[in-house]
Amino acid sequence: MLHHTNLRIGLTGGMGTGKSTAAAMFAERGFMRLDADQVVREELLPSPAVREAIRAKFGETVINADGHVRRDQLAAIVFKDPVALAWLEELLHPLLRARWREIFDQAAGEAFIAEVPLLFEKGMQNWFDFTVCVTTQSELQLRRLEQRGVPQEQARQRLARQLPLARKCELADHVLLNDGSPEFLREQVNALADRLLKSHHARLTGPLHVSPP
Ligand code: ADP
Repeated sequence: MLHHTNLRIGLTGGMGTGKSTAAAMFAERGFMRLDADQVVREELLPSPAVREAIRAKFGETVINADGHVRRDQLAAIVFKDPVALAWLEELLHPLLRARWREIFDQAAGEAFIAEVPLLFEKGMQNWFDFTVCVTTQSELQLRRLEQRGVPQEQARQRLARQLPLARKCELADHVLLNDGSPEFLREQVNALADRLLKSHHARLTGPLHVSPP
């Protein structure tokens, strides 16, 4: 039994499989779009509490002259050091969750689509009512990343850190196949969005909300 009135969808997939593209299509269907990386970049890292924790842990080299966290330096550190990465994630995850709860609670009845690249890796399934995985053939994925300027070798390295896409698809409640045109993806998003919104609406207006005779 769900105690909130939002529809909360977690959208994941591999790098370059089309998460942002699919999220934008959900947004066109009336979903409010949330992006984990964006919240970290624009709200959490600039906050004084997070900045000071990062300064205390990693020193002045990760702080700019104007007092902001240097994301490039921070990324370089945690890319090489799994312990540092775990520390950073432990700092940011509860804050991200609290921030999203606030957003959910302020928008009763609203439908949300949240883009979370490492949703299953970080065990965030229970933040959402449903999970959706966007998948594509690995060759297409590499080609799209290359078109975005990510060198093949780096793309392969980054992919190796993620759960295999097939495993993410098994874990997800719904799968979107992005192996065709953008229109092919849009048809799937529309069908799924309509189905989820319909059952969400039925839940909000269903018998549980009718007073007994
Ligand atoms: P992700 O958010 O999963 O990293 P994106 O949605 O940014 O992936 O897609 C990666 C790149 O591939 C983008 O440049 C996007 O425009 C392109 N792309 C996504 N889906 C398709 C598609 N069906 N056909 C052609 N290009 C696509």
